[in-house]
Amino acid sequence: MTIPTRAQVELAAIRHNVGVVRGAAGGAEAMAMVKADGYGHGAVRVARAALEGGASWLGVAFLAEALTLRAAGIDAPIMVAVCPSGDDYGTGVVQGVDFGVGATWLLREIVAAAEATGRTARIQLAADTGMTRGGATVEQWPDLVEAALKAEAAGAVEIVGLWSHFACADEPDHPSVRRQIRVFKEAVELAERAGVRPQVRHLSNSAAALHLPEARWDLVRPGIATYGLNPAPALPDGGLRPAMTVTSKVALVKRAAAGEGVSYGHLYTTSRETNVALIPAGYADGVPRNGTNVLELLAGGKRRTVAGRVCMDQFVIDLGDDSLAEGEEVVLFGPGDRGEPTAQEWAERTGTISYEIVTRLGGRVPRVYSE
Ligand SMILES: *Cc1c(COP(=O)(O)O)cnc(C)c1O
Repeated sequence: MTIPTRAQVELAAIRHNVGVVRGAAGGAEAMAMVKADGYGHGAVRVARAALEGGASWLGVAFLAEALTLRAAGIDAPIMVAVCPSGDDYGTGVVQGVDFGVGATWLLREIVAAAEATGRTARIQLAADTGMTRGGATVEQWPDLVEAALKAEAAGAVEIVGLWSHFACADEPDHPSVRRQIRVFKEAVELAERAGVRPQVRHLSNSAAALHLPEARWDLVRPGIATYGLNPAPALPDGGLRPAMTVTSKVALVKRAAAGEGVSYGHLYTTSRETNVALIPAGYADGVPRNGTNVLELLAGGKRRTVAGRVCMDQFVIDLGDDSLAEGEEVVLFGPGDRGEPTAQEWAERTGTISYEIVTRLGGRVPRVYSE
C-alpha cells in the first residue's frame, strides 16, 4: 500500500540532461551532483542514470551520502563536498571516496584516518574564491597546498583535484563571476607551481556549465540541470527536460454552498454554490504551505488553483460546475507536456527556487521510475 501521491522520475530525462550539459560545456567531463537524495529524485537511481548518460563522476554533500552510493555497488569516483570535523573518514578512505578539503585541520584528520587504515586518502583541495562559504581563503591557500603536498609525499593522501564554487553563476554578468574565475586561476597556478599534479580542476555548477565557457576547466558539476530544471530561469536552458512528475488522486468531491469558508483559517470563501475536490497531498509531502490560494495544478485537463490553506496532508480545489471522479489522477507539477505547472512555476508562485520544490518532497512520497 502506498499513499495516493507519487513522484515519477523519468530516467531517460536524466540521461538526456547530462548530455545537454556536457554538450553546452564543450564536452567537459561531468560530475553529476546527487546530494540530498538526488535533489529528491532518489540518489542511487539518478546516479546510475547520470553515469549512463555520460557523467564520469558523482558529487554529494556528505560522506554518508557517498557511502549509500557505494553500498548500492556504484564504484564511480565520488567527491564529498562538505566535510565536518569528526566524520568517519577511515570508512570513506577504505571506500575510495574523495574528500573536499579546504582547511589544514581537516587535512590532519584525514591523514590520521589514512594512516590508521594503511591506505592513501583521495583529496580535492577546495579554494574559497569569493563565495565566503567553504574552502581555504586566498590567505590560507598556500599553507593548505604545502601541507597537502607534504602528506602526499608521505603517502597519506593523493591530491586528485582542485576546485571551488560560484556564488552568482546564475547571473553570469555579476562582477563576482569574473573575479572568482581569476582567483581560481591563480589558486590553480599557485598549486601547480608548488608541485600539485591534479587530475581534475573544476569550478562550474549547472549555471556556469551552461553559460560560462571560460569557467570549464576539466569537469563541470551539474546539480539542478541534471534533473532538467533551469539553473538560471532568466536564460535559456539548452533543452533540458524536467525529470520529475508529481501526481496525486482526487480523494473526495462534494457540493459546497455559496459563502462557505474552506480549509484552516477560512482563507478562501466560495463565491457561489460550487463543487470542491479534496487532493490528498500537503506540506508533509512537499506542497509548500505558502502555496495557499496561489499554487496551481492540473486537474481534469484544466489548471486549478489551491482553494484555501494547504494542510499537512491535503488541500482543496474549487471546480465550479465541473466535476472530477474520485480516484482521478491530478498532476501537481511536471515537465509541462500536458499543461501542468513546472517545478519552476511552483517556485515562482511561492517565493523560492525549483531546487527547494523538488528537494523537499516528503519522505512518504514513493519515487517510481521509468527508463
Ligand atoms: C550542489 C553543488 C553543485 C551543483 O549546483 P547546481 O546549482 O545545482 O548545479 C555543484 N558543486 C557543489 C560543490 C555543490 O555542492
